[in-house]
Amino acid sequence: MLANGRPYLAIPGPSVIPDQVLRAMHRASPNIYTGELHDVTASLIPDLKRVAATEHNVAIYIGNGHAAWEAALVNTLNPGDTVLLLATGRFGHGWAEMARALGIIVEVLEFGMQDAVDLAQTEAALRADTEGRIKAVLAVHVDTSTSIKNDIAGIRAAMDAAGHGALLMADCIASLGCDAFEMDAWGVDVMVAACQKGLMTPPGVAFVYFNDKAAAARVKVERVSMYWDWSPRVAPKEYFQYFAGTAPTHHIYGLRAALDMIADEGLPQVYARHAVLAEAIWAAVETWGVDGPLKLNVADAPHRSHAVTSLEIGAPHGDQLRAWCEETAGLTLGIGLGRSPAAGYFRLGHMGHVNAQMVMGLLGTMDAGLKALDIPHGRGAVEAAALRIAKGA
Ligand SMILES: *Cc1c(COP(=O)(O)O)cnc(C)c1O
Repeated sequence: MLANGRPYLAIPGPSVIPDQVLRAMHRASPNIYTGELHDVTASLIPDLKRVAATEHNVAIYIGNGHAAWEAALVNTLNPGDTVLLLATGRFGHGWAEMARALGIIVEVLEFGMQDAVDLAQTEAALRADTEGRIKAVLAVHVDTSTSIKNDIAGIRAAMDAAGHGALLMADCIASLGCDAFEMDAWGVDVMVAACQKGLMTPPGVAFVYFNDKAAAARVKVERVSMYWDWSPRVAPKEYFQYFAGTAPTHHIYGLRAALDMIADEGLPQVYARHAVLAEAIWAAVETWGVDGPLKLNVADAPHRSHAVTSLEIGAPHGDQLRAWCEETAGLTLGIGLGRSPAAGYFRLGHMGHVNAQMVMGLLGTMDAGLKALDIPHGRGAVEAAALRIAKGA
């Protein structure tokens, strides 16, 4: 009964889709041969580069984040090459599985489910590679299962300190447009992203950014399938080469609207909004945790994402709370992905088109759920969040 009304999908992707994006997509199929669609597609490129703070290349694929993962690997690495995975949470391992399936050898530096990449260990691992076997370092900026945020610039500094020439490849699928990221300034060679998280567009297009060093690696790859090859996609002689076939017509319009919204708000303001909302959530969780099982997964605040928050609550409370919020209040929370037992964890997505009233509603609903389910919790969590919101950016 109380769930009737506008539902709120507060999971870490797909994220809330703005009405502006939905409206932009609600149109008749455009002419794909000539005209407006071609201009709109070309207009996306500089804006996609702007949100990643890069002057280099971006290739667009019809696909999800997994497509971008695969594209990044097949354009830069040969079977038999070795990569180093800096593993924090679940998603890096997913990328590594894909690499192994392509015949790439993966060395793993494991940092577990609560800690960020340790830069000294990273530097030591690279120093130990005296023969230069490691061709690429794979790191996830924000791991969506644990909400760990890694210091990507620090990883580059560790690589440089070790004098190692590997490519730095970053997964920014969960962070692009939420947590500050600067591809060029941070020395990232390849970056993967997708449209359905901070970019507020329905799942369906993904991005592979790459610089000149990565483009040089591409030349040395013996075989890249015509479909996955990024080269024609960034320098198309014919329009169809942007997507190796039919364009993702409606996504192009949706993404155009989303990028306009980010430009109108201003990227620094977008980051500041995400930061304040995340801090309000942390304040609430810390208050609940004073007298009960709820706790933030990541203890160290600078290593917490501003786009997603992973919480521990103890089984079966995670599943119970998610079910209560959805059935009773129309609020869908994220599952305890990659955790054991999964029912002891859950996640909050607060990426993209999310504002203060939504986060206050999310926290107020969770507070009601804790009370309804008799899950012990400290009092005053909503108040703590309100105080953080009241302080502003
Ligand atoms: C969502 C996500 C992925 C996977 O993206 P899909 O679109 O589901 O394929 C990979 N890495 C990170 C960090 C993510 O957040």
